Amino acid sequence: MGASGGDLDPQIQNLLGEATTEIDVPRKNRVFCNRNLRMDSIEMIGFDMDYTLALYHQDRLEQLSIQLTLDKLCGKHGYPEAIRTLHYDPKWAIRGLVVDRQNGNVFKMDRHAYVGRCYHGFRELTNEERRSTYRNEKVNLSADRYEWIDTLFGLPEAVMYTTIVDWADKQTGTVDYDKLFGDIRTAIDEAHRDDTLKSVIKADVPAFIHKDPMLAEALHKFRSSGKKLFLLTNSLYDYTAVVMSYLLDGERKAYPSWRNYFDIVIVGGAKPAFFNELRPFFPVDLATNQAITDGPEVKHLSRDKVYQGGNVIAFEQMTNVKGEQCLYIGDHIYGDILRLRKSHMWRTAMVLQELDREISVSDRLEAQIHDMDLLDRRHRHLQSEIDYQSLRLKKIQRLLDDSATSAPLRARLEEERKTGKDSIETLRQRAHLMNDEIDSLEERIDRAYNIHWGSCIREGNESSRFGEQVNDYADLYTSRVSNFAPYSPLRYFRAPRRPMPHEI
Ligand code: IMP
Ligand code: MG
Repeated sequence: MGASGGDLDPQIQNLLGEATTEIDVPRKNRVFCNRNLRMDSIEMIGFDMDYTLALYHQDRLEQLSIQLTLDKLCGKHGYPEAIRTLHYDPKWAIRGLVVDRQNGNVFKMDRHAYVGRCYHGFRELTNEERRSTYRNEKVNLSADRYEWIDTLFGLPEAVMYTTIVDWADKQTGTVDYDKLFGDIRTAIDEAHRDDTLKSVIKADVPAFIHKDPMLAEALHKFRSSGKKLFLLTNSLYDYTAVVMSYLLDGERKAYPSWRNYFDIVIVGGAKPAFFNELRPFFPVDLATNQAITDGPEVKHLSRDKVYQGGNVIAFEQMTNVKGEQCLYIGDHIYGDILRLRKSHMWRTAMVLQELDREISVSDRLEAQIHDMDLLDRRHRHLQSEIDYQSLRLKKIQRLLDDSATSAPLRARLEEERKTGKDSIETLRQRAHLMNDEIDSLEERIDRAYNIHWGSCIREGNESSRFGEQVNDYADLYTSRVSNFAPYSPLRYFRAPRRPMPHEI
């Protein structure tokens, strides 16, 4: 249903067109707002490609990455063939996990950067083990010892590391956990760079990439409201052209080629270096797919050309667009979002492919989540009742210990103490039962997101570290770019009012 005003003259209604309100958009297709953003003040919108415009079939891409990494580990790196026979479960990992290369562990952090839950191989560490290993200290992600899995490209690394650690521990000899991760990282990195991965995808793009029928519509809507669009991807031109053609060529009559949607195309952008270094732009020779590095300096970004490399400062100068008039939509917190928000004024939107499933699961479990919240609140009330009764008992005891207390009062106090003790015991038993119920509900809900790790954006009662970063750095977030299609391109996205704990 449109919300363009029920009583409008049909002719005016026609002229105004269909305007949709957020209420009409199903929750899993909404664009969510962390920080107010007026789309009418945005003049340019930039898009990352991989996992932003191009959403991958995660399981298939993961299987392929694992296969190619195993080939490299067993070939050049000399790992035993036995590791090929292990079962690598693509569903095991989620975004936001951290690899501890020193101890061979993988863990998930809460919002305050403390270790929430932790696995060594497929064994979950007990609370005791976790506490003694990480001593309740904040994790410093910039330390060499840690690797943060913050892109969906990184999930196979976590899956392979866990599976091989689990296997290696059962073999004779000591395991060099740090080297093992280094070898996996190098092998995957090579697979991305030497074309082994991309040549397989290019040969059968539909097997690896979703074709979103609403993507062209969303881009067209932005363009028709006068916004300039650009593509800024780390992928090189040969791969970009194949993927973008698959996504957009021929989708709308007015745009026969994917290139028609974009005013500027930048490939091999080397983000985050694009945002914090001063690399030059080079035009790409479309016949050879190679950057022309010996030509004159690029002083203007033309619609007819494709560029490689570059940097944000030169981009802003050449396009004459100011940071806050530019919105960049990407999927990688570190590479696409964080720098832009920290050092430049660009507005940011993050594509969180997982949101689709996260919202479906929370919709499905709505009643259980509601029960858990209710039980949690009741448990807190019960706890404060126990505290009150305990305090009362202490006072009674103090009076009983006081030799000045008269005999009749003492008798009454003894009576009070007995009933007080009984009532505390009953309350404690009830709290205990309630606690068990909360734990079991929490576990059931958690497992529905991911059996081992729960939701990627939550950890226990709080946001996960990853969820917190989305919150801090992405002005908007949504599960796919086409979710923008139902919204007006001039929409004022407003962040909901967030209560502080004392306001709840
Ligand atoms: P974007 O998301 O469109 O900027 O592109 C991401 C690019 O980074 C893709 O071409 C990926 O193949 C590439 N990529 C992802 N992980 C790695 C890696 O570990 N090493 C090298 N390239 C990578
Ligand atoms: Mg990307």
